Order: sequence, then structure tokens, then C-alpha cells
Amino acid sequence: MNTTYNDEHYHQSLQARLDLLQDVTHTGDWEWRLTEKQVHLSQETQRIFGMESRHQPTVTEFLRKIDLKDRTHVIHALRQAKKGIAFDLKHRINRQDNRFCVVRSRGWTLLDRHGRPEMITGTVQDISQQEQKAIIDSVVNQIVAASLRQIPKEEIFTDILKIIFSIPWISIESKGSIFLNDSINKKLILTTHIGFPETLLRQCHTVAHGTCLCGLAAETKQVVFASQIDERHSIRMEGMRQHGHYCIPIMLDTTLLGVLNLYIAHQHVRCPEEEGILTTVANTLAALIDRKCKEHQLEILARYDALTGLPNWITFTKRMEQWISSRVLPGQFAILFIDLDHFKTINDILGHKAGDTLLELAAKRLQECLRKEDFLSRKNGDEFIAGIRIELKDRARVVAHKIVEEMSKPFDIEGREGRIGASIGIAVYPHDGVQVEDLIGKADTAMHHAKRCGKNGFAFFSSEMQSFAIKYQQLAALLQQSVPTMVGFEIYYQPQVNIDSGELVGVEALLRWRRPDTQETISPEVFIAIAEEANLMITIGEWVLRESCKQAVAWQRMGFPTLRIGVNCSPKQFRNPRFPDTVQAIIEETGINPRTLELEITETAIEGREEEQLADGIRRIAEKHIAIALDDYGTGQSSLRRLRTLPVRTLKIDQSFVHRFLTVEEDCAIVTGTIGLGLNLGKVVIAEGVETEPQRKALMELGCDELQGFYYSPPVSVKDFETLLRQNIFIIMDRIRAC
Ligand code: C2E
Ligand code: MG
Ligand code: MG
Repeated sequence: MNTTYNDEHYHQSLQARLDLLQDVTHTGDWEWRLTEKQVHLSQETQRIFGMESRHQPTVTEFLRKIDLKDRTHVIHALRQAKKGIAFDLKHRINRQDNRFCVVRSRGWTLLDRHGRPEMITGTVQDISQQEQKAIIDSVVNQIVAASLRQIPKEEIFTDILKIIFSIPWISIESKGSIFLNDSINKKLILTTHIGFPETLLRQCHTVAHGTCLCGLAAETKQVVFASQIDERHSIRMEGMRQHGHYCIPIMLDTTLLGVLNLYIAHQHVRCPEEEGILTTVANTLAALIDRKCKEHQLEILARYDALTGLPNWITFTKRMEQWISSRVLPGQFAILFIDLDHFKTINDILGHKAGDTLLELAAKRLQECLRKEDFLSRKNGDEFIAGIRIELKDRARVVAHKIVEEMSKPFDIEGREGRIGASIGIAVYPHDGVQVEDLIGKADTAMHHAKRCGKNGFAFFSSEMQSFAIKYQQLAALLQQSVPTMVGFEIYYQPQVNIDSGELVGVEALLRWRRPDTQETISPEVFIAIAEEANLMITIGEWVLRESCKQAVAWQRMGFPTLRIGVNCSPKQFRNPRFPDTVQAIIEETGINPRTLELEITETAIEGREEEQLADGIRRIAEKHIAIALDDYGTGQSSLRRLRTLPVRTLKIDQSFVHRFLTVEEDCAIVTGTIGLGLNLGKVVIAEGVETEPQRKALMELGCDELQGFYYSPPVSVKDFETLLRQNIFIIMDRIRAC
């Protein structure tokens, strides 16, 4: 048929419009006459396929353009089309320039007039950009979903690798790993992998920055691509088959968090769009890792003690619950409640920074006393709790003993020596309880018992302790109530007598307390210890001092000869920097002559840790011409040096030695020694607790200066003491007469 110019022109313009339409919609078309080998591609289809224009490929060439992974699908679809079945599928195109190209291919069959398939024709729409965006959206969503699961981060990473492997159109193999960055040591740490054999795992466990492909990615912070095992691939193993890699740094802004390592087929050609997708995946991973790290830090803060790095109280409780529910051997376990002795003093004297250092050192030392399977935690302040596995109760004893021994050794706190100690309470599961809280409470009770028994020791829980603890707490509460008004407190007085003349030369003020609810008199040994622990002794001590001074002045005003008055003081009072001023104020207020005042401090109080601060307090008091007596002398181990340097006027031999010195050789040695020491150092020696005439006589022969004890009088009320004062006048008068 002849075509006219107009026809031709019409066809050309139609073709031009069709080409334009194809170009705008990124859609080409093609046709394949089944009798021919060639496939006819439109200009746009050729462009999409990355082919030279005007080249009309054979069917085989056409199929070769389809990515290997998708080719069988396409062949199957064409076969079906031959039978008249239309198709609509997506596949990737292998372009010469390796640009990422995914198309939507639709095809259908045209029949000849006999109804037989004559031609398959179709359209090819370039959907690369939409696909790329859809892939990224889907992968990011999947990663975010995976990251929200409450599973360990390693498992999340494994899921993420699987998500990456399932990305369509991307030429990666199902093998790869995620490394996290150790920025301090400049190395990568393999956190998760899929498909790594044992031998490779061993070699890739850590990878130094700059080493192998992943190390290079870490060092350069750039994607490292390899299409084969080349000279950069330094980690190798025998029998390794050829492969390539995408190593993508996982970056959070400019910070390297890790490396995503993916395996690709040998000779795969680098594809920028693939890299783009994988880099977006790596960025999502970075956000996830960052969040996980922050979560981890929060978790650490919630579960661990920030100062010592030890598990905290909550973690400890949980672990003990696990021990109980997992039914540790019938061999039980023990809970050790460890409280550091004198820590607060060091903290006050050396400062909080030194206190923190000491706690860190103490935690380390405690840990060294325990086995790997034991569990140490910090409760708060200077309290630690350990759960220890024990086969026999004796192991708890051995461990507690070791801790006490180790903790009493000096600590080097930034060049300064710090001495503390540890008091430990022990409760044993299941003997003392089957609930964690109960066990901890009992270990705590036992610890307080150990503290009351002189600190730096340990005690196993017993039921008596519990009833004692209850009573103790009741008393503490009652004392606390009594202190503001001092109702129920009374001072008794006990005479001190010159051994040669029998004359009353001094008096010791001794505090008494009746509990307000029952009016029961509580032993000073008990209530003073409670008051010390409850930090009430500074207030109580000040009241005793004021009242005793007032009383002494009152007696003078009543015309009795002036006596030296001894007042017991707590070490806490001496350590209080305001104490000398308080004493001065009381002197001025009461008008007592300071030379008639003697403050007593127990020998054991001046030993060890707070020695210097205490000594300073003692010196400042002595400067006011007030005498100092070392009470309960012999029960401590004060050195001669200390005796020489401290301005102590009097040594009061503890009554326990006086009670037994006539029968027990060691006690006799202490009494004799103390009297000798007093003589040599020019100190007054008072023997306390003298009850019998033989004791008095023997003490006189040994050269003791003064005596105090039931032999003369027990501590008595003011009224009764005034009777003694009157008798004393007769003694003095007798002596004067004898002269
Ligand atoms: P201390 O200062 O060594 O007082 C002597 C203790 O020995 C007194 O016990 C006294 O009653 C007792 N005693 C005296 N002579 C004899 C005796 O011949 N035989 C026996 N068996 N005991 C005798 P007390 O009054 O029970 O006081 C005990 C401790 O309480 C005192 O020992 C002192 O350390 C402390 N204390 C008492 N009052 C105060 C106070 O106001 N402040 C402070 N910080 N401590 C005080
Ligand atoms: Mg005393
Ligand atoms: Mg005493």
C-alpha cells in the first residue's frame, strides 16, 4: 500500500509523540514475533536496558540482560505468554554500566487470525527509583521493628543481618557480620555474624583499624569495596573461595560506631545505588547502636553502683532470688553484710574525694577476698553485701575472717594512710531464712551485733540477736525522745580517794537513765552505746558536763572542800572541733575552776584512725588547764610514744584488772606495769573497781595514787554523795588532828 506524505508525516509525528510519552513515563515497549529470533525494542526500552540504540537484540541477548536471579522467572513468564497468559512482574536489569535498574515488565500475546499466538509484546517501566525508596523504607522499618524487641543486642543484630540478606535486587550473599568499634583500643569487635566458619571467627574476633577490608573501612570511614580477594584482604584461611565485599562504616555523624561487612559474589561490579541502600541501612544501624549504648548506660546506672562499679542493691537482691529459685546445692549460701568501721571519720577528716577513693579501694579489696562464683554488691555509703556459696558454714567464717583481716590493713589514699576496719554480719540460707529480704535483714542485725561487740569482727545471726535488736531499737527511739528535755537522766557521783590519807580527793560523774515508759534503769554500758550510735552523745555529754560543773560549784558554795570532778566524754565530743569552745563556755557559765575539772576519755578511743584529730582536741582542752584522764587503761594498746606526747594527767586502771590482779598473773603484770609507768612518766594512777581490803592494801603497796570503787562507795545520787562529803570532812579533820 502506498503511503502519502500526509500518512508518513502523521506516522512520524505519532512515533515522536510515543517516544516522548515513553521518555516521560520511563516506559518502553518491545515486541517479539514468535517466528523471529530478534526482539524489537523501542528507543526507551533500549535506554532502560543500557543498550546501544538501534540495536535489536536476539531473544537470548534480551534474556541475558535480565539479572541472573530473576531470569528463570522471566523465561517462565514468556513460556506462559506463548500459551496466551499475560504477565506482570518486576525484575532487575543487568546493565553494562551496572547502574541499579529494576523494571516492571508486562507482556501479553497477540494471536493471528487462526487464533494462534503470533507475537508477544510488552512494556518495560523503569521503577528503579521507586524500588530503591521502597527497599530503604521497608528495610528501615524492619530494622526499627527488630530493634524494639526485648532481646539482647546480639540477637537484634542477627535479625538485622537477615533483613539485609533479604533485600531484593541487591547482589549480596547470605554471609556477613557486624563489628562494633572499640575506639580506645582502635579495633573492631565482632558482635554478630552469619555464615562464618569457626576458623574465620577466630581470626576475625577482633580486627585492628587499618587491617583487612573491615579495618580499612574503620580507618578511612569510607565504604570499602572489593570484587575479589585482593592484597587488602589480609585475613585469609585455607580453602577460602573467591568472593567480594562491601565493608560499610557505621557512622553517627563523624563518629565510627562499627562496620557492616557483607559478602558479595566474585567479580560483582560496584554499584553506587546498592552502596546507597547499604549506607542507609548502616546509618539506621548507627542510630540503633547509639540508642542501645545509651540504654546500656542507663541499665548500667540502674543496676550498678557508679562509684565502685559493683552491682547495686537491686541487682544483688535479684541475684539472690535467682540463687534461691535455682536451688543452689543443699550446701546453702551465706549473706555477708559488711559495714566499714570508721569510714565516716576518714570521710570527714580527709574529705569526700578521699572517701570515694577509699570506697573504691575497699570494694577492690573485698572482691579479692571472694571467689569468682560469689557475688559482691554495694548497698549504700560504706555498706557492702556479699552472697557467698558455701559448702559448710565454716567457709562463711573463713571468708569473714579474711575480710576483717584484709580491711584492717592500711589503705593508701593518694599518698595518705587510711585505716578502717569491717564489721560483718552473716545469715545463712536456708538455716536463717528462705527469703532474700529476711536474710539480708538478719545479716544486718548480726552486723550491728558485731559492731556493738567492739567492731572489726564478724557475727553469725542468732534469734537472741533479733530480740536484742528489737529492744535496742526501742531504746534508741526512747533515748531520742528523752534527749531534748533530758527527763529521766540523772548524774550519780562516785568518790575517788587518796590511797595514803583515805581522803576524798575527786569524784567521777556517772550518768544514769530510766526508760520513760517502764522507769527501768538501763545500764550505762547499754544506753551510752546506743546514744553513741544514734549520734546523741555530743548533746548528752554537754549536758553531763554542764550539770556536773554546776554541782561541783554548788558543793564548793555549800562549804565542802574543793574536789576534782571527773566527767566522761565520748571520743565524738573530743573530735568535734567546737568542743573546746563548748567547754570554755560551760566553765564561764558555771564558774568552775578549770583546774578542778578532769575529762575522761577511754584508752581505746585514742587508738588508730582518728588519732590526730582526737589528739588535737585533747591538746586544745589541756591548754585550758583542764586535766585529761585515760579511762579503762589497759584495755587498749596505747603506745608509750602516745602517752608521752598526749597531755594526759591521769591513768585510770580498768576495773577488770583490779578485780583479778590478786589472782591472775597477767592482770597483776598490767596493774604493776601501769603504776610503774605512771610513776616514771609523772602521771597520777587511779585504780577503778576496788572492792576489797586486800585489793586496797596491795594497790597501796604497789604505789597506786588513788582508788575508786565499791570498797569506798558505789556511784550515788547527789543527796547521798553529800553525806559522803560530810564524812570526808571528819576524815580530813582526823588527819589534821593526827598531824
Ligand atoms: P567508767 O567511766 O569506767 O566508770 C566506771 C564504771 O565502773 C561505772 O560504771 C561504775 O559504776 C563502775 N564501778 C565503779 N566502782 C566499781 C566497783 O568497785 N565494782 C564494779 N563492779 N564496778 C564499779 P557505770 O556507771 O555503769 O558506767 C559505765 C561506763 O559508762 C563508764 O565507765 C563510762 O565509760 C560510761 N559513762 C558513764 N557515764 C558517762 C557519761 O556521762 N558520758 C560518757 N561518755 N560515758 C559515760
Ligand atoms: Mg570514767
Ligand atoms: Mg573506767
